[in-house]
Amino acid sequence: MKFNDYNLHPQLQKGIEKAGLKKPTDIQFKVIPHILKGEDVLAVAQTGTGKTAAFAIPVLHQLHVQKQRSRRQDGVRCLVMVPTHELALQVAEVFDKLGKHTAVKTLALIGGVDQAPQIASLEKGVDVLVATPGRLFDLISQGHMRTSRIQMLILDEADHMLDLGFIHDIRDLQRKIPRNRQTMFFSATINGRIKKLAYNLVSKDAIRIQFSPKDPVSKNVDHFVSFVEMDDKRFFLERVIREHSNSKVLVFVRTKVRAERVAKAMERVNIESLTLHGDKDQKARNEVLNTFKRGHIQVLIATDISARGIDIPNVEYVVNYDLPDKAENYVHRVGRTGRAKNRGQAVSFCSPDEKDMLKEIEAFINKPIDRLEVDSLEYKNMRLMSDESGMTLKDMMKEIEEIEERDRKKRK
Ligand code: AMP
Repeated sequence: MKFNDYNLHPQLQKGIEKAGLKKPTDIQFKVIPHILKGEDVLAVAQTGTGKTAAFAIPVLHQLHVQKQRSRRQDGVRCLVMVPTHELALQVAEVFDKLGKHTAVKTLALIGGVDQAPQIASLEKGVDVLVATPGRLFDLISQGHMRTSRIQMLILDEADHMLDLGFIHDIRDLQRKIPRNRQTMFFSATINGRIKKLAYNLVSKDAIRIQFSPKDPVSKNVDHFVSFVEMDDKRFFLERVIREHSNSKVLVFVRTKVRAERVAKAMERVNIESLTLHGDKDQKARNEVLNTFKRGHIQVLIATDISARGIDIPNVEYVVNYDLPDKAENYVHRVGRTGRAKNRGQAVSFCSPDEKDMLKEIEAFINKPIDRLEVDSLEYKNMRLMSDESGMTLKDMMKEIEEIEERDRKKRK
C-alpha cells in the first residue's frame, strides 16, 4: 500500500513525498480511507504511531480539493483542538509540511504570545486552525474568529485534555460549531470518562479504531532497566545525572515525600534539582517548570499526577526512579522523551519488589525492556558506600578505576 493508492491530490502527494513518507503506518492505513469518505472516527492511538499525519493527510486533501473547486472559501474549516502549546506547534508543523504545495493555510493558535499577528492571520484567511482552548475562546468571544464554517473537528490527545480540565471548554465549543460536521477523536488511552466525551462528540456511526500498536511508545525511545535495591537507587540516579550532564533529566517517583527525599539526596552530592508534585500550587509548579524548560536546572523530580497535564518539554532522559503503579503510566512518562524526531532514553530502576510491575509494563508495551547490566564489582562498591563517607559516586568510581588499573599493572 502506498499513499498514491488513495488518489490524493498531486500537490498533496508532492508534500508527502518531500516529507519522506513512503508507506502509510498502521494507523494511517486504518483511518485515512474513512476520513476521506467524510466519516467520523474515534481512534485510540499514542504518539509515535503517525497519528498526526493520519488525520492531516485526508483533511488536507479534502480542503485543497474544495479550494480548487471554489476560490471563495472563507473562515476556518477544520479546527484541531490540542491540550498543549507544544503539541499545537507540532501538529501545525505537520499540516504546513505536508500541505506545503496545496492551497491550505494552517495557523497554530496558542496563548502566551501576542494575539495581534494571530488576528491578522485569521483575517487573511486560515483553513486549518490548531488551537489550545484558552486563546481560541478569547478570540471567539472578541469576535475575531467565526466558527460557523467549521466542517471538521479534531480532538487530539483527548485524554490529556480531560486531565487538564478542558471538558467544559470542549462542551462549550460543541455548542458553538455546526452540528453537521465531521469529528475525529484521538486519545492515547481510553476509559469511561473518555468514552462518554467521545460518544457525545462523534456520530453514532463513527468508525471505532482501538489501535493497540505493537509498540505503543515512540520508536525514538531506547528503554533500559537496571535491577537495583531500593536503597541504592539514589547512587544510580547520581550516576545517570553525571553521565548525562548536558541533558535534561526528568525523574519520576511514586510519592511527593519521595520526590523531596530524592531531591535532598541529590543535594547532598551537590546535584541541584527541582521537584514537581501536588503539594505545590499552580504558580509554584509553573515556576519550576519554566526553570526546567529554560534549561536553568538540569534535573526535575516529579510524581505522575503532577506531570500529567502539564506541558513538559521534550527531555533527553527519563528516569523511572520508582516504577509507576499502573503500566499505562509508563507510556505517559516515557512519552516525555523521544518526541518528534528527537531520540530519547528511558531508564527504570527496578527493585525486587517491583519486578511484577516490570512484567506488566513489558506486557503493556508489548516488548521486553533491555537489561542494563551493572557490573557486580561496581555495584558492590556502590552499596558499600555510605552517605557518611562524604564521597560522591564519581569519586568512588574513580577510585575503583584506579584500584583496577593498579591491579592490572601488577598482573603484567
Ligand atoms: P506522530 O504519531 O504523529 O507524533 O508521528 C510520529 C513520527 O512518525 C513523526 O516523526 C512523523 O514524521 C513520523 N511518520 C508519520 N507518518 C509516517 C510514515 N507514513 N512513514 C514514516 N514516518 C512517519
